[in-house]
Amino acid sequence: MYPRILIDAGKYRDNVQEMKKLCARQGITLMGVTKVFCATQRLVEVLNDEGVDFIADSRVENLRKMKTTLPKVLLRLASRHEVDEVVLHADYSLNSDIDTIRKLDAAASEKGKKHGVILMVDIGDLREGIYYRRDIVSVAKEIDTMQGVHLAGLGTNLTCYGGVIPDAPTLQRLVDVVADVEEALGRSLDIVSGGNSSHIPLLQEGIHIDKVNNLRVGEALALGRETAYGKLVPGFHDDVFILETDILEIGEKPSVPEGTIGMDAFGKKPSFQDKGMRKRAILAVGKQDVEHTELKPFDEAIELIGSSSDHIIADLTVAKTAYKTGDVLRFKLTYGSLLSLMTSPYVVKRYV
Ligand SMILES: *Cc1c(COP(=O)(O)O)cnc(C)c1O
Repeated sequence: MYPRILIDAGKYRDNVQEMKKLCARQGITLMGVTKVFCATQRLVEVLNDEGVDFIADSRVENLRKMKTTLPKVLLRLASRHEVDEVVLHADYSLNSDIDTIRKLDAAASEKGKKHGVILMVDIGDLREGIYYRRDIVSVAKEIDTMQGVHLAGLGTNLTCYGGVIPDAPTLQRLVDVVADVEEALGRSLDIVSGGNSSHIPLLQEGIHIDKVNNLRVGEALALGRETAYGKLVPGFHDDVFILETDILEIGEKPSVPEGTIGMDAFGKKPSFQDKGMRKRAILAVGKQDVEHTELKPFDEAIELIGSSSDHIIADLTVAKTAYKTGDVLRFKLTYGSLLSLMTSPYVVKRYV
């Protein structure tokens, strides 16, 4: 059945092992992040076997369904509407809101649990985290008085909303806050979670940020890339996941539609460049599964020119292969395409 995504758990394992080595050089613990592949159990198993330090996902549903003995971390800020589920299914959560943390405290106390809070600090990327340095110390002090939660540490997130690249000057803001909090509490913090796959270039260059002792890594394990500059990390695989889809129709058609042009299937007014007659194919996968701009054909002569809910249109004019109906095309993936394909119930997941 097509479309299908081929998943090579062996290559994923190689990436996890390489990542562990990179982290170990700087005494950094690793949270293996599973959200981009919907925490599929076959890959959770790999993280279990390889003994990463934590397993992390942004959805409580994924943490609930996964089978693991690793400590579980909720990556998306806990919601005050689901504190019971959070303390039940996560050992730690990332947080930035004191009211929510109070509710987590109450929920954990009621269940006789001790839930770990990683307090997020915004050092400039402007997604989650407390921005003002003075606020962080007062929140940390209040958490330290609670019974149901404990302040496990501080964390920061970069290169997500603002595209800010982790470097020593930016991360110094985190280091300064850690110093403030440790001084105010009179103890050192267990976890200082410095970032995600965009931190990898710093590891490669051997730049150690004082105090940073943890990273949360998803994309590099799944796609072999760091995310500061988007480069393949040497020794990592970029083909753990491959999309295969078949050709439903193939033939010569003009490059400009004929007739009066109104709207496309998504209410947008399309525009076209006249390239004459082209050899075109229709593929059995569409916007409901993936954005065509996020697929990277193995055959680089193939250009994906558009899509609707269930179809992608490909231009095969310059391809060397004489494709025909029923042939299967293969694609490497980006973060966006992997995320949406794994989430689509219409895409078969096949382990190789
Ligand atoms: C998704 C996520 C990560 C992992 O990021 P990658 O770029 O996939 O390594 C880390 N931290 C948080 C808070 C996240 O939401």
